[in-house]
Amino acid sequence: SKMRETRIRKTKTVCTYCGVGCSFEMWTVGRKILKVQPKPESPANGISTCVKGKFGWDFVNSPDRLTEPLIRDGDRFRMASWDEALDLIASRLREIKEKYGPDAIEFIASSKGTNEEAYLVQKLARQVFGTNNVDNSSRFCQAPATTGLWRTVGYGGDAGSISDLYVSDLILAVGTNTAESHPVIATRIKRAHKLNGQKIIVADLRMHEMARRADVFIHPRPGTDLVWINAVAKYIVDQGWQAREFIEKRVNFYDEYVKSLEPFTLEFAEKVSGVSADDIRKIATMIHEAKSMAVIWAMGVTQHQAGSDTSTALSNLLLLTGNYGRPGTGGYPLRGHNNVQGASDFGAMSAYLPGYQSVSDEKARKKIEEYWKCQIPDKPGYDNNTCLEAINSDRIRAMYVVGEELVETGSDSEYIRKQLEKLDFLVVEDMFLSETAKYADVVLPAAASVEKEGTFVNTERRIQRIYRVMEPLGNSRPDWQIIQDVANRLGAGWNYRHPSEIMQEVSKIAPIFAGVSYERLEGFGSLQWPVSDGGKDTPLLYTDRFNFPDGKARFYPLKYSPPLTVDQEFDLHLNNGRILEHFHEGNETYRSPGLKEKVPGTFVEVSPELAAERGLKDGDLVRITSKWGSIKVRVLVTDRVSGKELYMPMNSGGDSAVNNLTSRLMDPTAHTPAYKELPVKMEKIEGG
Ligand code: SF4
Repeated sequence: SKMRETRIRKTKTVCTYCGVGCSFEMWTVGRKILKVQPKPESPANGISTCVKGKFGWDFVNSPDRLTEPLIRDGDRFRMASWDEALDLIASRLREIKEKYGPDAIEFIASSKGTNEEAYLVQKLARQVFGTNNVDNSSRFCQAPATTGLWRTVGYGGDAGSISDLYVSDLILAVGTNTAESHPVIATRIKRAHKLNGQKIIVADLRMHEMARRADVFIHPRPGTDLVWINAVAKYIVDQGWQAREFIEKRVNFYDEYVKSLEPFTLEFAEKVSGVSADDIRKIATMIHEAKSMAVIWAMGVTQHQAGSDTSTALSNLLLLTGNYGRPGTGGYPLRGHNNVQGASDFGAMSAYLPGYQSVSDEKARKKIEEYWKCQIPDKPGYDNNTCLEAINSDRIRAMYVVGEELVETGSDSEYIRKQLEKLDFLVVEDMFLSETAKYADVVLPAAASVEKEGTFVNTERRIQRIYRVMEPLGNSRPDWQIIQDVANRLGAGWNYRHPSEIMQEVSKIAPIFAGVSYERLEGFGSLQWPVSDGGKDTPLLYTDRFNFPDGKARFYPLKYSPPLTVDQEFDLHLNNGRILEHFHEGNETYRSPGLKEKVPGTFVEVSPELAAERGLKDGDLVRITSKWGSIKVRVLVTDRVSGKELYMPMNSGGDSAVNNLTSRLMDPTAHTPAYKELPVKMEKIEGG
């Protein structure tokens, strides 16, 4: 009805930006969002949120929202009905499958969508098409951390809860700009630092807020973290400070690990990483003296060719010092998107079925095959990143992309654009005509998180419900309904009336979700996986056993391989990451005027010494060139960066986006792009 709505509704939802998973009540009248009100019972955040959760919602009512399906018509799109668009998708995908086989299609689930939607995307890939070509954007961020944890402790998630970080004696923060990327976690740590005598060690390239607050700040050479971490471990062993009893009872392969540490002397560490022997001794001593240490890390570690190995080195160090299984200990890879954890947990990964059951695990696969009445290949498929290379050999012919801005957030945008152009068929579900959607054959308008129900998993493995705050805009639809419609046009016969029924199915086939149900997640209720049949959840992992058959953790020996570094021509190192006000490419935050006004566009941070040497001042226009691309961008002179290191926010304005410069180098195990290994040159554009 057109009757004016005047009643204020208060609906519980969860932030769709970072992995902290702040929950709150959203106060609305119709589509108008009046305010966001966190509650004391909000499990991850209490009464805190950051500026994005509070003011970053205007995109929901942006005039740029897609409200009708679009079908490509030459160089343009024309509006189409849902029936026409879905029929076209079904017939083209069927054709491609019949002609080239099921592995010719790649499916990408959204890390911002719900768990239930990620689950349906991988079910569409595996059950309806018969391929493991499915993934989500964890490939671009924390997949190496997950690899490191799988190698050593067994679960690819944070060891404990966010609240446990408050009781840590010592926080080791490596390659994480926590105050801007995970603001509410930073708030907890800052409070513990001030009130509890907690100590903080920060290793990073930039003097950001956490670095300024740290008790010890080290600035290793880019890409050399593994070296100083292993040197700290070796020094601890040399002093006899290892946690003997813990290791004996709970960890395998100690001797192999100690042997692998031999090359990592203080001299070697100083030479390669630039971290002084004094600092390494100081860090080792602080770890030795701390009753509990937790390690937090993020993209500064993972987005290197050695991302998996460096993550592994951090987990090794925690095992060596007995720092797992108690409150305030353990590894915390801080998750990027609101649901990058959940999209992985629910099976949108090329090598894993829902609940991290490997596709090569015969028993798990058979059980799911029986449940779904289908056959699933026993080998991993192409992931988000390797699928792009597979387009070259015509092995990938079509892609089905749900809410992923591949062009701007993948590495080497120019390359990705070229690859998408080569596809026979591309489907994109999104709220906006993203850079990726511009290459699509069919674009389907997706509902926003506040327009649907479902669940997210935050960085501490916490499953939380979102409730419908308002109706989907125009003719947009929730992704889970769209995916079901596509599957059913291909004969799947799915009949989910509500996301809770999808969750019910997951609880039957994925043991870590055995006791998860919507009833148990009512309101601000939440559960941290693994959740037993009876509904007991796990705020703290590894209290009695690690997730391996014998219950013991594993030291994982490592070697050092050097990163791509600067040379005479490409003489500057360009780092990139988040800033507080924006999220990733900015498709949502740039459409939220409050945030856009604060930080309207991108810039490059230049150190005062480099600015002096090159005659640069704030606002000057420079050209930055790598081996892979070139951009123009404005200078911001700041002592957050030093020497010949530059920094750019990863969110962009199109042509000046940092991913026009990044390369196709990747971590050999996790296939995560080495976004942070980026030698560039910089020239001033006179009169620019
Ligand atoms: Fe919380 Fe992260 Fe959202 Fe900020 S962006 S409100 S810290 S979930």
